[in-house]
Parts: sequence; C-alpha cells; structure tokens
Amino acid sequence: MMIIVMKQTATKEQIDALLRKIKRWGFETHLSTGENKTVIGIIGKGESLQERAFLAFEGVENVMQVNKPYKIVSREFHPEKTIVDVKGTKIGGQDIVIMAGPCSIENRPTVMKIAKAVSSRGAAILRGGAFKPRTSPYSFQGLGEEGLKILREAADETNMSVITEIMDVRYLELIENYADILQIGARNMANFTLLKEIGRSKKPVMLKRGMAATLQEFLLAAEYIMSEGNENVILCERGVRTFEQYTRNTLDLAIVPAIKELSHLPIIVDPSHATGRRYLVTPMALAAVAAGADGIMVEVHTNPAEALSDGAQALLPEDFGKMMNSVNIIAKAVGRTV
Ligand code: PEP
Ligand code: MN
Repeated sequence: MMIIVMKQTATKEQIDALLRKIKRWGFETHLSTGENKTVIGIIGKGESLQERAFLAFEGVENVMQVNKPYKIVSREFHPEKTIVDVKGTKIGGQDIVIMAGPCSIENRPTVMKIAKAVSSRGAAILRGGAFKPRTSPYSFQGLGEEGLKILREAADETNMSVITEIMDVRYLELIENYADILQIGARNMANFTLLKEIGRSKKPVMLKRGMAATLQEFLLAAEYIMSEGNENVILCERGVRTFEQYTRNTLDLAIVPAIKELSHLPIIVDPSHATGRRYLVTPMALAAVAAGADGIMVEVHTNPAEALSDGAQALLPEDFGKMMNSVNIIAKAVGRTV
C-alpha cells in the first residue's frame, strides 16, 4: 500500500480531485480522515506507482510505502487511535469499557438478573451467546433467535448495548437486528469468508484472537474486515493455547501494548476464557487494565454451578462488583477512567 499524507491545510476539493485521479488510474483507495490529517491509502497494482508522481499534487504533504503485510489496521495509515462509538459508549477512548454477562443465554429470568447485576456495577455492554461454538456437538448449542430476543430485552431494560457472537454468515441479518456489536469468536478468527462478509456490515465488530494466531495473523484478520469498508473493529485478546494445562489458555498481555504500537484499533481483554478459573479472572482483568487495555469482557452468572456453559470461570455478581472497585483504582493509576 502506498500512503499519501495530506497537508493539514489541504482542502476537500484537493482531496476529492486526487481521489478521482487515483480511481481513474484504476486503483482502489481507502480514506482515513483524522482530526488533523487526512491519509489516502492506495491498494492494488499501486505498489508499482511512483511516489514522486503524487508529490506534485496540491495539498500533498508526504508519500510513503507501508511495507507491513497489514495496511489499513496499521498506525502508518491511521496515526490517530480509532474510537468505536457504540450508542455513545466510546471504545478506545479515555474510558475502560466493561462488557459482562453470561457465557450463553439460557433463559429470560437468569439473563435479566445478570443484566441488572452487571449494569448496576458499571458494565456498559451486555454479552451472551445465542449461537455457541461448543467443542462438543452434544453440548448446549444456544437458543438461537429466542436467545437474541432475551438478550436485547435485558439490555434495553438496563440501558446497555448488546454484543453477541456470529458464527455463520447465514445468520448475519438476523443477528444484526438484535446486536450492537458483532463478535467473531476465536474459532472463527481465520474464517475469511465470514470476515469479508462482516466487513460489509455497518455494525461494529469485535474480533477475538484465534487460539493459535500470531499477532500478525490477528492483525491480518482485522485487515480482512477493514478492507471491505467496516472501520469499526475492536480487537480482543482471550489467551492462546500453550503447553500449560492448569489455565484454560495462556493470556498474552504483552500483545496489548504491542497492538497499541502497531495499530490504531482498540483492544480489550477477556480474562474469563483466558484463564478458565474464577479466582484468576479478577487478577488478570486488573493486569490487563494496567497493560493499557481499552476494556474487559468477563463472564458473570448468578448461579455458576447451574450454568449451561463455562460455569467454572463465571464471576458471581459480588465478585464482579469487587473487580470493578479494583479496576477503578488501577484505571486511575494509568490515567484512565471507568
Ligand atoms: C465467547 O466469548 O463466548 C467465546 C466463545 O469466546 P472465544 O471465542 O474467545 O473462545
Ligand atoms: Mn464462554
């Protein structure tokens, strides 16, 4: 990708004229409109374009090549951080955003109880799976649309937004009707057909890191979504598989500041799936905030022993409340708010 950085003083007419020209030459353009500067990315055969050719245009400040495999997700293309606005909740800004809820949507009363418990303790986004990617086909697979309805209703009643997983493009329209954020699970991080389709959706997307994905593969998966036009991508570290068996996965916290360095996208951390054990969730949530995460996604259940999935890692509402108190303190220490 070649990047054209426009001068701060560049006018809309100058930018439009340049875009028209590049398109006429047969190249695909991506526009990044920052607070101070506009950056134009040129993709395709454009790699062979002469940088000099663009310097002559009015309003152009600088021209450079992005030599990394990922382009649109890179800091070079978009120097300012991306803030994803979900109905007024800003993910990637000053606030640490908390997503909480059950692993799966089980029934109306339980979800309602959990929604009230997490919302009153500071969660802005209600999570819950209606289509579950279970390791065994004999495990509870989720309630489908019935579950989506329950989740939406619980979120509306508690003034929260909804995040839920989409596993199959066939359900995109259905899920879009109920969700505010589409979640791509770890098992689907490399489902490129799904990523492309989601890239054409108008809904924000949270992409979870695949359990064996490198940082570069993770960012390239985000690039798949963004290259189709969806600019509202949130990354989520949820642990990777290692030789360690005591914890469900191994939380890779160093990826948080690394992603901040390489990309403009917000990153949140899921300490529930990363550890698999209730007592490890809060310490890892706090470490994540200290490491610079933009938010936390945790599983909460009012009766974990009876949960249909992931009970062992679910926080009780009281645990969640205690976690939130500590998150507040750590957030303050690193210059953030909750
Ligand atoms: C989930 O968050 O519901 C989930 C299944 O997590 P992951 O895709 O990270 O395993
Ligand atoms: Mn789960």
